[in-house]
Amino acid sequence: MIGIGIESSCDETSVAIVEDGTILSNQIYSQIKEHTPYLGVVPEIASRSHLLKINELYDRAIAESGRDIASFDYVAVTTRPGLVGSLMIGAQLARCLHLVHGLPIVTVDHVEAHFYAGFLERRERPSYPFLGLLLSGGNSAVFRVEGPGRLIKLADTRDDALGEAFDKASNVLGLGYPGGPHIERAASQYAPAGKERFFPAILKDLPPDEISFSFSGIKTAVLLAAKRGEQKEKIAYHFQETAFDLVERMLLRALRRENVQHIEASGGVLANQTLRHRLDRFAEKHAISLKYPVSKALCTDNAAMVASLGQYLFEAGIRDPADFPVSSVRMAYAEHANATKP
Ligand code: ATP
Ligand code: MG
Ligand code: FE
Repeated sequence: MIGIGIESSCDETSVAIVEDGTILSNQIYSQIKEHTPYLGVVPEIASRSHLLKINELYDRAIAESGRDIASFDYVAVTTRPGLVGSLMIGAQLARCLHLVHGLPIVTVDHVEAHFYAGFLERRERPSYPFLGLLLSGGNSAVFRVEGPGRLIKLADTRDDALGEAFDKASNVLGLGYPGGPHIERAASQYAPAGKERFFPAILKDLPPDEISFSFSGIKTAVLLAAKRGEQKEKIAYHFQETAFDLVERMLLRALRRENVQHIEASGGVLANQTLRHRLDRFAEKHAISLKYPVSKALCTDNAAMVASLGQYLFEAGIRDPADFPVSSVRMAYAEHANATKP
């Protein structure tokens, strides 16, 4: 089984080729530098940049794979959720491969695809059900994953995504964009004097039985601490600690409610070394299997995960028509009018 994956939902353009669970090529172009002056993703710049880059990435992926596109089994493409103008660029490439080479189309949910990056890296087939934790620039959520195309959302954020909160906190501290690596570096330069309490009241708001995230309070606390003139490294350290405390707490609630043996985590924030260590300890303490992609390039947006989920959907019989829609929101397969349902 060999397939091509296409990803253009936000600020990474990517084309990948996966054969029998092995990545033959995973070409990624990140637009971060183009958006840096604006401290966030500008949709018009994003779609133009996808358009300028995608053919080159396609050529490089095919060349690196050494395979003939005409012999591929499917083309998998991210069609939701994302910036509509950006999604349309990847969608057009998928339609071309369908029309010219007759490849069956499998449309993929970007959020769901993130949960397949780690399995792909470990060359494992997923066993269901598992909990999917996504902490990225646009999402902070926990899902129960029951099979390809079968996700049940258990927790979402009430306000900001965690990556977004990292970006905003970094901006407040004057550290740079995207914020994650800057905050991480600053935090690592701070040595707390024992168990300090710095942002004490923030986690109190959430009802004891609710599973949800909220990061806007921590963001405000960062702003206030910066205005008080606190040390940047200290603020960054406590921002991370407080945010990761909340992640662990919600994960534990989800774990207690759902009968699952495995948590698969992904998204750009999983590039954070402190979070990785904490999740490793969490898994040990609660005697659960918890994994995330070791490669940071597989934590952030990439088309290999799209090709991988595409394979499982293809095996489950999913085929989408060439006039498939793209959408800014997540869409359950049941709502996805024309597709064959798993
Ligand atoms: P989505 O997948 O929700 O559409 P996205 O694709 O923009 O969002 P990713 O590319 O997965 O998100 O992740 C980008 C986010 O990850 C940014 O907000 C960035 O600050 C954050 N991030 C990157 N590296 C780190 C790090 N070392 N620590 C914490 N956060 C990080
Ligand atoms: Mg991104
Ligand atoms: Fe993503």
